[in-house]
Amino acid sequence: MRNRIGIIGGGAAGLFAACQLNRLGVSENADVTLIEKNNIPGKKLTLTGHGRCNITNRKEVSRLKEGYHEASNFIYPALMEFGPEDTVSFFENVIGLKVKEEDNNRIFPVSDSAVKVRDALVSYISDCSKIICGAEVSSISIKDGFEVTTSKGQYHFDQLILSCGGSSFRETGSSGDSYRFAGSLGHTVIPVRAALAPVNADDGSLGFCRALSGVSLDADISLYCEGKKTASMSGVVLFAGFGLTGPSVMEISREVPSDIDGKDVYLELDLVPGTSDEEFDRKLIDLIGGHPDTKIATLLSGFIPQSAASAITERTGCEGLYAQGFPKDNRKKICRAMKHLRIGLKGAPDLNAAYVTRGGVSLKEVDRKTMESRRVPGLYIIGEALDIDGISGGYNLQACMSEAYLAAKAILSKKIC
Ligand SMILES: Cc1cc2nc3c(=O)[nH]c(=O)nc-3n(C[C@H](O)[C@H](O)[C@H](O)COP(=O)(O)OP(=O)(O)OC[C@H]3O[C@@H](n4cnc5c(N)ncnc54)[C@H](O)[C@@H]3O)c2cc1C
Repeated sequence: MRNRIGIIGGGAAGLFAACQLNRLGVSENADVTLIEKNNIPGKKLTLTGHGRCNITNRKEVSRLKEGYHEASNFIYPALMEFGPEDTVSFFENVIGLKVKEEDNNRIFPVSDSAVKVRDALVSYISDCSKIICGAEVSSISIKDGFEVTTSKGQYHFDQLILSCGGSSFRETGSSGDSYRFAGSLGHTVIPVRAALAPVNADDGSLGFCRALSGVSLDADISLYCEGKKTASMSGVVLFAGFGLTGPSVMEISREVPSDIDGKDVYLELDLVPGTSDEEFDRKLIDLIGGHPDTKIATLLSGFIPQSAASAITERTGCEGLYAQGFPKDNRKKICRAMKHLRIGLKGAPDLNAAYVTRGGVSLKEVDRKTMESRRVPGLYIIGEALDIDGISGGYNLQACMSEAYLAAKAILSKKIC
C-alpha cells in the first residue's frame, strides 16, 4: 500500500513541503496531493518582497533564530537542519533559480520576480505531486487516517500537512482556516493579532502624520502602554496618511496590545537618535546663538527633512519664528518634540494589513524536531498556521522552508507502505 500524503494549503509552506518531499525521494513510496482553494497556488508568495520575494536571510543560524521572538528556541532545530545555506542551495542547484544577496544578508532571486519563484516551485513539484486547485477544504476529521472534505469532493490521507497559513492579507486565501482545522482536531490556538503591520494614528496625531505623508527618517521608537515603555526599536519610520509604517514601525507593531481602545497607547519617536536630550538642547542653543537671522525650522532641517522640521515648528507653535529672541520655553518645546515625539495609536494594527500573523497553533503541542502534532499522530503543522512570526528580511519564508523540511523528512521516515 502506498503512503497517501495530503498537503492542505498551497502557499509558501505547502509548496515547500511538496518540494522537500520530492527532493527527499517521495515518489518511490507515496502519493502526494496538494489541495489549494485558490485557482493557482502561492498567491501570497507572489506578493512577497514587494514582488521580488525575499527568499531567506543568510545570517548565521545562531543569530537568525533571534529574529523569531518567543519562538526562537522552538525553531532552532529546524533552522539547524535546513538553514539559509540549504535554502540557497535548493533554489540554485535543485530548481535552478539563481539568487543574489542584498543588504542585511537578504537573499532575492536574480530575476527579482516572486512570480518566477512560485512558478519554479510549482514546476518542480508537478511531476511528483497531484495539485488540486480551486478546492476549498471545509473540514478535516480522523477517519481511516484523515478524511478531508473539500468543495471538490472527499480525500483520504495517511499523513497530513496542515499549511493553510495565518489570517493576514485574507484576499490571498489565508483566512484563518488553519486555526479552525487545528482547533477541531484538539489543538490550542493562541489568539491571533497583527505582526509586521503599519499602525494607525489617533485623531490627535493624524493631521501631523498626514502632513508628513511620504517622509521617512531614522528614529528610535518606543511603545508606551498606559505610561509604561513596553518595547523599543531603531530604524526607518515612514509617515503615511493613516499613521506610520516603515521597517521599524512594522517590527514594533507585534507588541501593540490587541485591546487598546480607551487606553493610552502611543509611539514615542526620538528624531535625533544617538544624542541625549541635554546634548541636543546644547546644540540647539549654539545654533540659535550662531544664526540669529535664520528660521527655527531651517535650523532643525540640519537634523530632519525640511518638511518634518516645518511640521515640528507648527506642532510646537513656533511656526515662522526666527532664532533671534527665540524664547527658552519654545526651545524646550522643540527639544521635547524632536526627542519625544508622541504619536497616539488608534486601535490595534490591522491584521489584514499585516505581513504576518502573531499567534496560531500552540508550539507546546507540536514536536519541534518533526513538526508533528503531539495531539494527532500523522498530522504535521507548518508555516504561519503555527504561533511563530519572524522579523522582516526573509525570516518568515525561511521558517516555512525549514519546517517543511522537518515535516517531509519525518513523514518519509515512517514506513507506512
Ligand atoms: C505583502 C507581504 C510581503 C511579504 N514578504 C515576505 C518576504 O519577502 N519574505 C518573507 O520571508 N516573508 C514575507 N512575507 C510573509 C510570508 O509571505 C508568509 O509568512 C508566508 O507566505 C506564509 O506561508 P504559509 O504557506 O504558511 O501561508 P500562505 O502563504 O498564506 O498560504 C496558505 C495557503 O493555504 C490556502 N488555504 C487557506 N485555507 C484553505 C482551505 N480551507 N482550503 C484550501 N486551501 C486553503 C490559501 O489559499 C493559501 O494559498 C510577506 C507577507 C506579505 C503579506
